[in-house]
Amino acid sequence: MENKKEMRTWLDDLNLSHPLVIAGPCSAETEEQVLNIAHELKDTDVNYYRAGIWKPRTRPGNFEGVGALGLKWLQKVKEETGLKTATEVANRNHVELALAHDIDLLWIGARSTVSPFIVQEIADALKGTDKIVLVKNPVNPDLPLWLGAVERLASANIKNLGAIHRGFSTYEKSKYRNNPEWQIAIELQTRFPDLPLINDPSHITGKRDMIFDVSQTALDLNFDGLMIETHTTPDKAWSDAAQQVTPQNLVQIMTDLRIRKETDPEAEYNTQLNNLRAQIDVVDNQLIELLGKRMKVADGIGQLKKQKNVAVLQSKRWNEILGKMVLEGNDKGLSEEFILRLFKAIHQESINHQEKIINN
Ligand code: PEP
Ligand code: MN
Repeated sequence: MENKKEMRTWLDDLNLSHPLVIAGPCSAETEEQVLNIAHELKDTDVNYYRAGIWKPRTRPGNFEGVGALGLKWLQKVKEETGLKTATEVANRNHVELALAHDIDLLWIGARSTVSPFIVQEIADALKGTDKIVLVKNPVNPDLPLWLGAVERLASANIKNLGAIHRGFSTYEKSKYRNNPEWQIAIELQTRFPDLPLINDPSHITGKRDMIFDVSQTALDLNFDGLMIETHTTPDKAWSDAAQQVTPQNLVQIMTDLRIRKETDPEAEYNTQLNNLRAQIDVVDNQLIELLGKRMKVADGIGQLKKQKNVAVLQSKRWNEILGKMVLEGNDKGLSEEFILRLFKAIHQESINHQEKIINN
C-alpha cells in the first residue's frame, strides 16, 4: 500500500497490499462459535482475528464476556488458522492474561481511554512490550484525552502503537450509534502522522447496512485499516447483534471498497489540482472577509441594543434566519446539518461580539 508515513511502523512491516483488516465477533461466546468464525475468515483479507473476552457493558445484566477461558479459544484460532489474534484489555489482570496467552494485538476500549488511571495501569503492565497496542477514542469527543492515552503508552516504551476511531457518544439522537466527528480523527492524523489509524465502522454505525459507507469514507480520509465485527449468525450474537456482518458480507465489503492512493505523480493531474486549490484559497479568503464584515454589522446592532438596553438574544429573529438559511443552503446543495452547524457557530460569534459591547 502507498505509504503516507515518514517513519516505518509495524504496519509497514506487514507489507499489505490492502488496508489492514481486523475482524471477528464482538464477543467470544463459545469455543465452537470462535473457531467457526475464524475458519470462515481464514482465507480472506483479514489480518487479525478479534474477539472480546471481557465486555464493558453500559448497563449491568447483559453478557459480560466469557473471561480468561476465551483466551484459550483464541490460541486455538491461531494454531488452526494462522490468523493473528486481538482482544480488548481494561486492567492489569487482563493484560497479564492476554500476554500469557500470546495475544498479538491488544486494544484499549473507549470506556477505558476516558480514565487516565486505567490507561496508566495498562501502560505499566505492558511496559516495553512488542505487541501491537491500539487505543480506541474515548467515548466523549475529547482529542487531548485520546492523545494523552497514546502518550502514556509511548512513555511506557510501547513502540507498536496505533489508534482506533470508533465514534463518540452524543445525547442527541443521530443516525449513528456513535457520531463519527471525522474532524477529530483528521486532527489526530495531523498531530501524529506516523500513528497507524484504524476505523471501526461497526461501533460508529451500530447497523450493518451502514458499514460500507463509513468504511469508504474512512479510506477516502487515508485511514490505514478497518475493524469490522463479524459473526456467522449475527442476529443471534450475544452482544451488538445489529451491527455484525457475516464473513460473506465482510468479503463483499472488502471487494467493493475503493482503495485510494495518497497521491498521483502525473503532471496534468497535479496542474489541475493546484489550479483548483488556488481557487479554494481565494474563496476561503473571501469567506473570512465576509465573516469579518458580518461581525462589524453585529457590532453595530450591539451598540444600538446597548443604547436601548435590549437583550442580545432575540430568539424569534434567530429562528427566522436559521429556517431561511437552511432553505437557501438546500438550493446550493448544502446539507441541513452543515447549515445548522455553520450558522450556530456564526451566531455564537455574533453574541460574543455583542456581549462585549453591551457590557463595556
Ligand atoms: C468492542 O470493540 O467490542 C467494544 C466494546 O468497543 P468500544 O470500546 O469501541 O465500545
Ligand atoms: Mn461490540
